[in-house]
Amino acid sequence: MDCLFCAIAKGEIPSKKVYEDEQVYAFYDIAPAAPVHFLVIPKTHIESCGAITPENSAVVAHCFEVIAQCAKELGFTDFRVVSNCGDQAGQSVKHLHFHVLSGRDMTWPPG
Ligand code: AMP
Repeated sequence: MDCLFCAIAKGEIPSKKVYEDEQVYAFYDIAPAAPVHFLVIPKTHIESCGAITPENSAVVAHCFEVIAQCAKELGFTDFRVVSNCGDQAGQSVKHLHFHVLSGRDMTWPPG
């Protein structure tokens, strides 16, 4: 399988690391949409939020623990977590990832 984020999680493609453990990798987005913008991914390949099951959901919970921990360590309290699922929602990389955006005012609903 040819997956950009699998390759980034394995260190085969360089990225700017925010956090890493055995299950999860977090790295800064190459095209930041906010002053703080990083991505949190499971190291195992899950295609999107639409592919979360009882068998693989533990790592998703862990992603959110990591998000809270990174926010504390990076020193911000207000942020947005986004996961685009499918082409119509704007998912360009078909490996589950959570965008973490912070450092500016945000509007709702998103475009
Ligand atoms: P999405 O469009 O929701 O699938 O999000 C994919 C995100 O990955 C986009 O915000 C891209 O800017 C980001 N991205 C793509 N390639 C890289 C890369 N090599 N390193 C870091 N971020 C990337």
